[in-house]
Amino acid sequence: MTESVSRHIAILGGGVIGSSIAYHITLLNRDPNLKVTVIEQTAIASAASGRAGGFLSYDWCDGGPLQDLARKSFKLHAELAKTLNGKKRYDYRVVDTLSVTASMKAVSVKAPPTDWLKSGVITKYKQIGTTKTTAQLHPYKFTQTLIEEAESRGAQVKIARVEGLEFDAYKVSGVRLSTDETISVDTIIIAMGPWSGEALSWLVKKSGRAYQLPDVSGQRAHSIVIRPSVPISAHVCFVSLNLGRKFAEPEIYPRPDGEVYISGECDESPLPPSADQYVPNPTAIKNLKSNINTLSPEILGVAPVIKESCCYMPISDDDKPLIGKVPWLDGVYLATGHSVWGILNSSGTGRVIAEMVLEGQAKFADQVLNLTTKETFSRDFFFFFSKKEKAFTTIPYFIIDIK
Ligand SMILES: Cc1cc2nc3c(=O)[nH]c(=O)nc-3n(C[C@H](O)[C@H](O)[C@H](O)COP(=O)(O)OP(=O)(O)OC[C@H]3O[C@@H](n4cnc5c(N)ncnc54)[C@H](O)[C@@H]3O)c2cc1C
Repeated sequence: MTESVSRHIAILGGGVIGSSIAYHITLLNRDPNLKVTVIEQTAIASAASGRAGGFLSYDWCDGGPLQDLARKSFKLHAELAKTLNGKKRYDYRVVDTLSVTASMKAVSVKAPPTDWLKSGVITKYKQIGTTKTTAQLHPYKFTQTLIEEAESRGAQVKIARVEGLEFDAYKVSGVRLSTDETISVDTIIIAMGPWSGEALSWLVKKSGRAYQLPDVSGQRAHSIVIRPSVPISAHVCFVSLNLGRKFAEPEIYPRPDGEVYISGECDESPLPPSADQYVPNPTAIKNLKSNINTLSPEILGVAPVIKESCCYMPISDDDKPLIGKVPWLDGVYLATGHSVWGILNSSGTGRVIAEMVLEGQAKFADQVLNLTTKETFSRDFFFFFSKKEKAFTTIPYFIIDIK
């Protein structure tokens, strides 16, 4: 019996962005013959999406091109948490958030409203988010939940490395896999996180012209997860710790499951070929432990460390995500470069891409986001270099339509 498929959408990458797209496409879809496949080279949420903090903010992207998407994503997370029982399935909760300044030589100030920071090292603190404007979730559990929901509506997950694309003229027709298979597709969405730069180069090569696309690469950060022996208050803390000759900026996320996630220590280490080859820098891990011991010697400092990790956030050339359709190709969409806000903006990105792919235009967000180029960093136009004319030509570029 042959499978009746009207259209095959392949989502390249099973991080939070790819998984959210799969969730929203299968939710909005009304075509029983639509096929959706998520192709993931390692495992679902094996990279940054399973190792991030999971902090969500309503208004911290304000004033930038992501303002609208971020605000709507924050609200959509609250709705999703109700629909999907996020409190139970992925530890969603609203939180108070503090900015804390600390120093080894601090003069004690009024103790912050946490029951775990040592007041003697705190020089000042400020509430920078409330339960109305900040929330958190467990990113690994959240991504798994999205995929489970998408699978329950027919999406399939294929574990294989995407190695290239096939085109029929300017229309995408196939995805080449490490398993020596080529699967037929009508639509692809590139959501390969910090590895997306490689896929973007396939699009440039395919065109046979010098189209300009921004690069997407990875920025490494480290994290540890500890399990204190006593429950601690739910305050997410962004700390600036004066260590004399240098500053450390650990971010501390108590989680409802009793664990505490601490991240920081960014460096420029090259991106390994896959997430199962990540090796944290021992000095970075040691620094995180030492910082936490300074800030909370009696509670967090003595807690057993249950995970030491690093991961790479996907960064585009101008630090803004690329969300939308590639203008000179049929059936090729990008959803990558989400930098430090990929968990937050995953919900809106999934919805926007699903609307674009299924309905031709995105109604969810009313701000125009545009692809950018290395040369211009323009957000209003997509630029390509025409060899014939030896000049950059501007193409008015629509990604998110006005609602
Ligand atoms: C330490 C740290 C803390 C963070 N904390 C937060 C936070 O609190 N809040 C927030 O909003 N954001 C946070 N972020 C950012 C967030 O984690 C990222 O923006 C987000 O996870 C990116 O998701 P993604 O799906 O684009 O990429 P990824 O999670 O990297 O997923 C990409 C997937 O594509 C797969 N892939 C790559 N190449 C191929 C290929 N050729 N074939 C098949 N599959 C492939 C990979 O295996 C991977 O699973 C944090 C990031 C870091 C590093």
